[in-house]
Amino acid sequence: MDFEFSQEEEMFRKTVRDFAQKEIRPYVREMDEKGEMPKGLVKKMADLGLLGITIPEKYGGPGGNFMLACIAAEELARADLSIAIPVFYLVEASWACVFARYGTEEAKQEILPKVASGEYFFGIATTEPAGGSDIVGATKTTIDEKGDKYVVNGEKVYISGVKESTTLMKGRYFTTAYMDKNASPRHRGISAFILPVEKDTPGLTPTLFEDWGRMGISTGGFAMENVEIPKHWLIGEPNRGFVYSMEGFSAARVIIGATCIGAALGGLEIGMDYIKQRKAFGKELGKYEGISFPLADWYSKLMGDRLVMYRAAWTMDKMYAGNEKYSHFDVALWTAMAKLRAPIDAFSILNEVADWHGAFGYTKECEIDLGIRGVRSYSIGAEGGMNIMRLIIARELLGKEFVPYDRQK
Ligand SMILES: Cc1cc2nc3c(=O)[nH]c(=O)nc-3n(C[C@H](O)[C@H](O)[C@H](O)COP(=O)(O)OP(=O)(O)OC[C@H]3O[C@@H](n4cnc5c(N)ncnc54)[C@H](O)[C@@H]3O)c2cc1C
Repeated sequence: MDFEFSQEEEMFRKTVRDFAQKEIRPYVREMDEKGEMPKGLVKKMADLGLLGITIPEKYGGPGGNFMLACIAAEELARADLSIAIPVFYLVEASWACVFARYGTEEAKQEILPKVASGEYFFGIATTEPAGGSDIVGATKTTIDEKGDKYVVNGEKVYISGVKESTTLMKGRYFTTAYMDKNASPRHRGISAFILPVEKDTPGLTPTLFEDWGRMGISTGGFAMENVEIPKHWLIGEPNRGFVYSMEGFSAARVIIGATCIGAALGGLEIGMDYIKQRKAFGKELGKYEGISFPLADWYSKLMGDRLVMYRAAWTMDKMYAGNEKYSHFDVALWTAMAKLRAPIDAFSILNEVADWHGAFGYTKECEIDLGIRGVRSYSIGAEGGMNIMRLIIARELLGKEFVPYDRQK
């Protein structure tokens, strides 16, 4: 067992930390208020090799593994407590990775270099108005063959990056729809494909939701009426889209863990600076055990979360390197634990740090509200609700016969 980061990992962390503290942190409040990313940031992230970090070099990507992906996510979130930039980063890192594994060669050559250069945003669109947890039951969108193309009809909601994809850049989304409507079990009827999301995509009507956090990246949706998809944009085998989606969710969940841990660490640092200098009753706040003991408790808990998260990233890298000891089920278990622990603890930590600041903690001069609003998106459900994480963990511990729903329907 080796708990040390390699020299390469340490150097990478320092590079991202310096970049994020200089290029992102000073602009986070402005980003929150304006609801848009700082101008030119996408290009700077591309130049540093942060966009689509897991995209292999042969497709113009940085070729990073999940350890590196998580290190960068931690550092981006330490600088951007609102987690808008980390979300932009992690959605691409996880879903472009699945596309890079299963997409057709032609589609990958066409799309991935443009994701790495910042011309395309690579997103994920599985959630529909009927629900996000039960993809099998809630998916109503269909994909059908029409001549030499596919056509897609339906609606996706609560989708990250819709405004960015239709204004700042162009979007390419990993999307799911029913191809075989009579499949049994039903999840074997879902296919995955690339959906173009641009300002003028024929048949696509974008919408936007008004969120209360991570304002620098939008959440929206789109109605699709006969949106045409080239045949080679189908991802992997027809009707295996559910399996590819589960792989993508695992990838996203570990980087979400890293993101929430980074935001909590950033918040704790702000809090510690404050309690070392703020005095009450003649002493620094940090000298009162009512303040320092919760710090000790929360820090210990967060370091536990961090170990679970890096274990999840390590397991993921082992699986992708072809080590047969580690299956997708191990990955699903560890990544679900990372996603279950980090968002909940990060939210509680940031809430605690707000208390240390007294009234100042309730003002926008303090950065803490950004973090509280940002990390909450991940405990409320983005990339899978907490109970879904619990379902996965319990399934891996007890066996799939203990899943409480009928898998055949
Ligand atoms: C900010 C934000 C950004 C998002 N971005 C994207 C995106 O880019 N792409 C995308 O496809 N989706 C996105 N989502 C949607 C997200 O994936 C869904 O919110 C999530 O899957 C949950 O679906 P739902 O919101 O429909 O809740 P539901 O599925 O309706 O569930 C509601 C609640 O019930 C719980 N629940 C459900 N089933 C069970 C069960 N069997 N047992 C116990 N409890 C259960 C859930 O955990 C949840 O708390 C985003 C969401 C948010 C908040």
